[in-house]
Amino acid sequence: MIDDRTGTRRPVPLASIRSLAPYRQGKAKLDDVAQPLKLSSNESMIGPSEKAIAAYRDCGARLALYPDGSQAALRTAIGRVHGLDPDLILCGNGSDELIQLVIRSYAGQGDDVVISQNSFAMAFVHAIAQGANVITAPEAEMRPDADAILAAVSPRTKVVILASPNNPIGQYIPRDELLRLHRNLPSDVVLLIDGAYADYVDEPDFEAGDGLVHRQGNVVMTRTFSKLYGLAGLRIGWMYAPEEVIDSVQRIRTPFNANAAALAAAEAAVCDTGHAEMVRRENKAELARIAERVEKAGMRFIPSVANFYLLRFPNGLTPDAAARHLEARGIIPRPVNAGGPAEVLRITVGRPEQNDRVIAALTEFVGA
Ligand SMILES: *Cc1c(COP(=O)(O)O)cnc(C)c1O
Repeated sequence: MIDDRTGTRRPVPLASIRSLAPYRQGKAKLDDVAQPLKLSSNESMIGPSEKAIAAYRDCGARLALYPDGSQAALRTAIGRVHGLDPDLILCGNGSDELIQLVIRSYAGQGDDVVISQNSFAMAFVHAIAQGANVITAPEAEMRPDADAILAAVSPRTKVVILASPNNPIGQYIPRDELLRLHRNLPSDVVLLIDGAYADYVDEPDFEAGDGLVHRQGNVVMTRTFSKLYGLAGLRIGWMYAPEEVIDSVQRIRTPFNANAAALAAAEAAVCDTGHAEMVRRENKAELARIAERVEKAGMRFIPSVANFYLLRFPNGLTPDAAARHLEARGIIPRPVNAGGPAEVLRITVGRPEQNDRVIAALTEFVGA
């Protein structure tokens, strides 16, 4: 490309990459609040297990050493706690990296990647960067829809991606529907189930996806330590996948994609099942309490099983006005009308006293 100002030639990124808009992180700062209550990125307000923090600190003495590239200790721990085969587990720099590596392994120029409407925004970016076409499958019932996904699949489809529970809604596809989707999907299409919020769900008709993963199959489940385990800052996630998917991702991942501190802290975190259970229980109890209080105040609470919830406001009040009202009180929510379902505000579940602050501010907002 010729530079307009200097008239010299300069390098040009791929057209697929130029077509992408930069990722916008949830707002983290407010101009005049020193320590805002950040409820915009679904981080854990409880934080990680004390044991994970201790394991992280211990790493400080070994920073000169490369991490274990085979990730053996963490894969073994995950396998033991979740009852899975450690050989089919691979860890990454957040589940985001693993989603990217699976897409890179299977979808190229001109291929189709089908993404259920309310999935992980980065899946779109990774597919487009490969030169693939993204086909969005609508979620009419606000959760991944087996028929809509199957209707979007064509002979060009290489990968299908759905988040269950989804984001920004927080609803899951029931097991029967997931099984039906899998049964009717061509067996040479990768079905990637993003279970970032699966740790929060204990409903009997929920299937996180691991039950569909087989050594020779086409299903991949990704999970993360960023949400329930409170380790978003360390960047560590994992996937459970068929042998061939593991093998192909092994070929293109960097050898030390999961760093030593992340591996150590995540191993301690997954073994501390008591902490995980406490977080799961508090989140569920708080969701129910918040739902009751905001509905009573006249707002519409959209049911969620994850660590966030969506609100609709009465009397033409907009999510942006609600966000401004909360921000003036030091609370940062995430308006999701850009790209997500229209006219809703997403808020991360906090500790009980934090949620009380949010409810009080919102009640004031709709009552004013
Ligand atoms: C937070 C989130 C992820 C996880 O990202 P990490 O890279 O593991 O931190 C994946 N999918 C969805 C839908 C998410 O909301």
